[in-house]
Amino acid sequence: MLKPDRSQKRLGKSELMVGPISYGHWRLSEGTAAEAGDKTRAALDAGMSMIDTASIYGYPAFGEAEALLGEALKAEPSLRDRMVLATKAGIYPPTPYDCTPDMIVKTCEDSLRRMNTDVIDVFYIHRPDMLTPHADVAEGLMRVVESGKAREIAVSNYTPSMFAALQSKLDRPLIANQVEFSPLRQDPVWDGTLDQCQQYDSTLVAWSPLGGGELMTQDASEDSTAGAVAAALDAVATRNGVDRGAAALAFTMISNPDIVPIIGTQRVKRIAEANQALDVEMTRDEYYAIVVAWRGVGLP
Ligand code: NAP
Repeated sequence: MLKPDRSQKRLGKSELMVGPISYGHWRLSEGTAAEAGDKTRAALDAGMSMIDTASIYGYPAFGEAEALLGEALKAEPSLRDRMVLATKAGIYPPTPYDCTPDMIVKTCEDSLRRMNTDVIDVFYIHRPDMLTPHADVAEGLMRVVESGKAREIAVSNYTPSMFAALQSKLDRPLIANQVEFSPLRQDPVWDGTLDQCQQYDSTLVAWSPLGGGELMTQDASEDSTAGAVAAALDAVATRNGVDRGAAALAFTMISNPDIVPIIGTQRVKRIAEANQALDVEMTRDEYYAIVVAWRGVGLP
């Protein structure tokens, strides 16, 4: 039987260890600072030690998610010691991207101020900026590390060739590539992203593992890719006595023991419940049925 590996995960080649599931703050600005504290505490209590945010989260109130976390950390400073804090720079709507060195450094400083903390554990480039050469992005990343503002650096939504090119300009490893990965978006297994993470000892951090909620409301009887994926997940969920979301989350972790999914529910109760995914068992037949449902054709 296939099962998620529930051990702590090392992020890339760093010393940072995180729980098998992480918690994301993208949708956090729907609530208050007190609620932000409650959700963050619930995630940490559930073993989700990496908290993932970004300078843009809260947009059009740019920085709002980081500011809410900052208020929560001011009210309860011990939360900061319990988390591996990840944030991102590089998206500034409507431009939309700017990863020039000065902009990277300024965004990092603004994030530190908003979050009431003196160091970011994992500092990501949020999306590739076509106009900035990799050498310049590397300069910005090295400046935030060398000034002690960030411990480790990473990228998000980078293609394998972009990752390799940026890495070639850096004196330290990119410890993660954060990309969309779920039963509905299995491309990272096929486009070289997961292979490259293994090649470079970098962590594949999977965003929107429930398809951003789309999977949870999908009609499993619909004649579509999403319908077929939902039906294949339901077979696993029913046999394990869990909901479709737990089966989907288990799928992301079973795909490779070093994949760390980030969930984004805003309901405190659902945060702890997500750990049910760690107990889901799947046969190889069931795993491949989810792959085939997504491909739309059988495997050769
Ligand atoms: P997700 O866990 O795939 O989706 C969360 C959504 O699913 C929420 O709207 C949630 O609604 C809904 N949901 C969960 N359980 C449900 C259920 N049983 N029934 C119905 N709906 C349910 O993750 P996500 O929020 O899209 O993304 C997670 C994190 O990934 C973000 O917070 C962010 O940190 C990161 N991210 C990164 C990027 C990037 O470019 N790097 C992009 C997107 C996201 P409720 O709140 O009502 O439970």
